[in-house]
Amino acid sequence: MNILCNNEKMRDKAVEFANLLDIQDSKVTLNIFRLPHPDRRQGFLDYPKKARINMYMEMFVKYNEERYITLAHEMVHVRQAITDGIMDEIEAETLAYRMNNISDKP
Ligand SMILES: [Zn+2]
Repeated sequence: MNILCNNEKMRDKAVEFANLLDIQDSKVTLNIFRLPHPDRRQGFLDYPKKARINMYMEMFVKYNEERYITLAHEMVHVRQAITDGIMDEIEAETLAYRMNNISDKP
């Protein structure tokens, strides 16, 4: 998995979450961007719904105090997208909470 992000701390966290989710070896390029604050969402993922290999994905995360749990949540969606393609919000919430607790605090 190739993770790109201008913010070094966000990139490091994304790599850590990819390892916890065991998707670090997947053939995915993930580009992470800051989501402008006026957006009502905390974050979202944009990717081609049909492609399953060599996928290029863009993730948008609001850089507020919730940023790492949002990042963890969206990383679960990355795994869902590259496995069965089903976006399970309950799994995303549950695993994001767990991973964020495991992860070193910034
Ligand atoms: Zn979600």
